[in-house]
Amino acid sequence: MAQAVGYRSNAVNVDKAKYPKFSTGQNCGNCALYQGQLGSVSGGCPIFAGKSVASTGWCSAYAKKG
Ligand code: SF4
Repeated sequence: MAQAVGYRSNAVNVDKAKYPKFSTGQNCGNCALYQGQLGSVSGGCPIFAGKSVASTGWCSAYAKKG
């Protein structure tokens, strides 16, 4: 699953050729789906049920926090 959505624990390692919609500054910590506390280093994500993602991470299901 992590591979299917191009998850990287550090957004600087995102494959930008494969995921052109990625833009610098996007990360799990400012994704609408991120369930960690503000400022936490990791937290839950419904894309990865039962697992934590890094606040510095990114995947192609990223949704800008409204
Ligand atoms: S959907 Fe992707 S970018 Fe958003 S918190 Fe989950 S793993 Fe991170």
